[in-house]
This record gives sequence, C-alpha cells and structure tokens, in this order.
Amino acid sequence: MNIGIVGLGLIGGSLGLDLRSQGHRVLGVSRQAETCARAVVRGAADEADTDLALMAKADVIFLCTPLHVIKTAISQLVPHLRSETIVTDVGSVKTWVVETITPYWPNFVGGHPMAGTAESGIEAALPNLFLNAPYVLTPIEATPALAVETVTDIVRPLGVRLYHCRPEDHDRAVAWISHLPVMVSSSLIAACLQEPDTAVQELARQLASSGFRDTSRVGGGNPELGLMMARYNQKALLQSLSTYREQIDRVIGLVQQEHWADLVTQLEQTQAARSAFVK
Ligand code: NAP
Repeated sequence: MNIGIVGLGLIGGSLGLDLRSQGHRVLGVSRQAETCARAVVRGAADEADTDLALMAKADVIFLCTPLHVIKTAISQLVPHLRSETIVTDVGSVKTWVVETITPYWPNFVGGHPMAGTAESGIEAALPNLFLNAPYVLTPIEATPALAVETVTDIVRPLGVRLYHCRPEDHDRAVAWISHLPVMVSSSLIAACLQEPDTAVQELARQLASSGFRDTSRVGGGNPELGLMMARYNQKALLQSLSTYREQIDRVIGLVQQEHWADLVTQLEQTQAARSAFVK
C-alpha cells in the first residue's frame, strides 16, 4: 500500500521505519527539505518532499505534525487528495483533533500511538517504537467503517495493543494518566523552588535521589508538549486537576488533624491500586 506521512519527526519517522519494514511504500512530506532528505537516508521514507502534492499518490495518510499546525496541514492537504484517500493522525489529544479535521475530510479516523521518547525530530525516529505500546483509534458515528478497518490493518502488524474508544473518553483517560502527571510533576519542582532558605534548597538538590527522579521526570520534559496538553485537552485536564486539588486538601487535613489511621488507609489503598495502572 502507498502510505503518506506528513511531519517526519519522532513519531512520523518511527512510523515510516516500521511501515516500510512491513512492505508498504512510504511517501513523506515535511516542512524542511533537509528533514526529507534525512528521512530517506534513514530509511523512514522511500520518497520525501516538502510539497504536499506528493500525497496525491497515497492511499492512507498519517498526519504526524505538531498539534498546533494540524488545522493548516489538513486544509493545505485536502486539494491533493483523491475522494477515497483515508486520513488518520497521531495526536495526543483526540476530541479537538477529530472536531478540527472531520469537517475538512470526513474519511478520517483519529489515532494515538502511545509511545515516545524525550527527543524530537527525524534523528530521534526509532524502529519498533510502537511494539507492545497501546494504539488508540477514536472513530465517531460518522466515521466510515472502511477507514477504521484499513487503519487497524495497517497498525496492528506493528505489534501494538489496539484500542477503540470515543474521542472524549480517550481525552479523559489520558488526562488522568499522562496530562495530570505532567502538571503535578511540574508543580512539584516549582514547589521545591519556593523553599525560602537557599542553604536548605541546595541541600535538597544534593540529597535528591531515585524518588525525586521518578516523580519529577515528566515535569522536567519538553514544555511544548505540556502546553499542547493544556491547550487542546483543557476541559478534561481541568477536571483532573480539580479532583487532584481536592485530594491534596484531604491529605493536608489528615496530616493537620493527625488522622494517621485514615492516612495509612489511603496509602494502603494506593499501594494496592498502583499495579492496575503500571503493569
Ligand atoms: P516532532 O518530533 O517535533 O515531529 C514533528 C515534525 O513535524 C517536525 O520534525 C517537523 O519537521 C514537522 N512539521 C512541523 N510543521 C510542519 C508542517 N507545517 N508541515 C509538515 N511538517 C511539519 O514531534 P513528535 O513528537 O513526532 O509529535 C508529532 C505528533 O505526535 C504530535 O501531534 C504529538 O501530539 C504526537 N505524539 C507525540 C508523542 C511523543 O511522545 N513525542 C507520542 C504520541 C503522539 P521538520 O523537521 O521538517 O520541520
């Protein structure tokens, strides 16, 4: 099959590597000519260009640009498409993406491969990035069944754990397990920086070890990604943040009032519950 990829970065490039190894012909489009050339050299595309006209030859197109350019990308892509061309995307947020793209191109199914690294750009692309990772497809009632079947058939051989759900449910779920943790982790680092005694703050830096490394990791990541989560998944993120604030207030109350038994009960419950999230 001829597969188009628009946006040859970490995710687009990694998809290109894997889809070519599955025997597909990969046609890539990216903003910079140098990126296109590197994608071909690295084996992430058979052919690559900065001109979206290349996509006229594609049967299925994966939109892999950053979220903030996706509206421009789809509007510029549409004039080059054949009526039967299927479009999908890889964005980390789904309700906004589905609502943005569907009016331009109804033969669209939203997607989210849940794998990544802290790096970005074509040089960060990796083979087998999606192996054993969740890959969520978010069809709506109007989504053509053939589009869902075709995209499913393309991504399943990459060894992904495939899920289908509504865009809104995807966004609420990732708010809990991905977007809220970034804001909590960032707030943790920001709170530590508020220690007024500089000697104590310096001592804290020296003593920080594996616990702080684990809890601060996602808050110390790419600020662009955190901003995208807040901008494009605002509603679900705010709901999660509000519940988290209530939870923190509850813990403050337990500690202030020395309700140690209730605190232990909570810690026992979370100790038991964690394994269902982190397998
Ligand atoms: P990335 O490494 O920065 O790659 C995006 C690429 O898009 C850039 O390398 C850039 O290529 C290209 N680009 C930018 N504007 C463009 C335009 N107007 N037209 C064509 N290409 C353009 O980012 P990424 O991490 O792959 O993220 C891409 C998408 O994947 C995002 O929607 C994100 O939500 C989603 N996602 C990311 C992760 C993650 O962990 N990073 C995980 C799952 C899903 P040039 O080099 O040509 O400028």
